[in-house]
Amino acid sequence: MTDDTWGNARAALKSTVGQDAYRNWIEPLEICGIDDGVARFRVPTSFMGTWVARNFGEEILKLLRASGSGVERLAFEVAADRCVADRPPAAARNGETRDEAEAAGSPLDPRFTFDSFVVGKPNALAHAAARRVGEGGAVTFNPLFLYGGVGLGKTHLMHAIAWEITARDPAARVLYLSAEKFMNRFIQALRFKDMIGFKEMFRSVDVLMVDDVQFIAGKESTQEEFFHTFNALVEQNRQIIISADRAPGEINGLEERIKSRLQWGLLVDLHPTDYELRLGILQQKVAAQSALYPELEIAPGVLEFLAHRISTNVRVLEGALTRLFAFASLVGCEITLDLAQDCLADILRASDRKVTIEEIIRKVAEHYNLRMSDLLSTRRTRTIARPRQVAMYLSKKLTSKSLPEIGRRFGGRDHTTVIHAVRKIEDLRAHDSQIAEDVELLRRMLEA
Ligand code: ADP
Ligand code: MG
Repeated sequence: MTDDTWGNARAALKSTVGQDAYRNWIEPLEICGIDDGVARFRVPTSFMGTWVARNFGEEILKLLRASGSGVERLAFEVAADRCVADRPPAAARNGETRDEAEAAGSPLDPRFTFDSFVVGKPNALAHAAARRVGEGGAVTFNPLFLYGGVGLGKTHLMHAIAWEITARDPAARVLYLSAEKFMNRFIQALRFKDMIGFKEMFRSVDVLMVDDVQFIAGKESTQEEFFHTFNALVEQNRQIIISADRAPGEINGLEERIKSRLQWGLLVDLHPTDYELRLGILQQKVAAQSALYPELEIAPGVLEFLAHRISTNVRVLEGALTRLFAFASLVGCEITLDLAQDCLADILRASDRKVTIEEIIRKVAEHYNLRMSDLLSTRRTRTIARPRQVAMYLSKKLTSKSLPEIGRRFGGRDHTTVIHAVRKIEDLRAHDSQIAEDVELLRRMLEA
């Protein structure tokens, strides 16, 4: 009886509230029973109960009444047996306030902790700042603004901060979400005319983390709301942590007042990884995976090879390793250099480094102890002209730039000058071992 009543009401709700709202709010409701005129529902979080009651309560009640079930009132109870197994134990959830924040935010990845974050020169400062914020206590810099390219560990650090804060203070209300989700919540609140609920929710947290804030660039009303939320929290001395793919000043379409607000706190950037950091990350991932694949062996030099060749981002590096492990465990063989090269051919090709003419000029100038401006000048002394030819030769060999383009970049020279340089160096390489060695060395450095 109860199931049928609710089943019919649900079916009707599907068409009235719309697909998305139905999936987010109605589907997760579990009916426990109807007695004494009260329809009792189990909800995953108390926030959700409040939300459903406020936004869909009337509609639900109307439908249940229409079925003649005698329902007068709705009650929402938080499910007692919530699953906590997939969370790091130190940060096991507790308290309903946390649930509210979690329902509004995005889930935290249990793998993204400080323990699993490998520190190297390129991310040392960001890591130190994140650690400091993770310790909690007095808010010293607000906001903490982490920025850097894709896959360099911004999200990882933010989750690590959230885990750390909640491990130290389980009652702390930490809300982590992407800027996109912030916008969706905002739009939803507008649609359901629940700006008060929205504001309450965001302004009642102890720590707010908004990931990939560049997403709201150009989205004016979302920015406006973000700005107010931000100010309200700063005024209450609550910690805010923001990430973006670039510095605030460089995000086009972001309001000036927001840019300047964001620069109030501490800005730290994650630099592109270097070889040592990549190797460290690979070693750590191997150690972490060895529990899954205990019998797997990796030949010496394989990790070094990967760290050397895959320099784009850490996500790609991880993907490569995962694929290698999966492949090797299927076939049941040791991971050798050959296997890695075969199995990862596409990834290796895609991450071949793109060398620029500027880099070539810089490296060649350094190598021959010249200034970069010498190489671009019109001076023709042999000690300058020869290195200049080497640089042109390397530009032709290592980049996809055309001869006229290369000529232009070398102080506006004609393309025939470039052709001449390329031929000259090709010729010299065959006869002059010093030149051959220089070219080889430079090529290796540039491709590293
Ligand atoms: P971003 O948010 O900057 O794009 P992520 O934080 O999502 O990058 O990182 C991409 C992947 O690389 C994640 O799986 C993350 O765990 C891993 N990663 C990045 N930096 C490190 C690091 N220093 N140590 C360990 N893993 C890292
Ligand atoms: Mg990210």
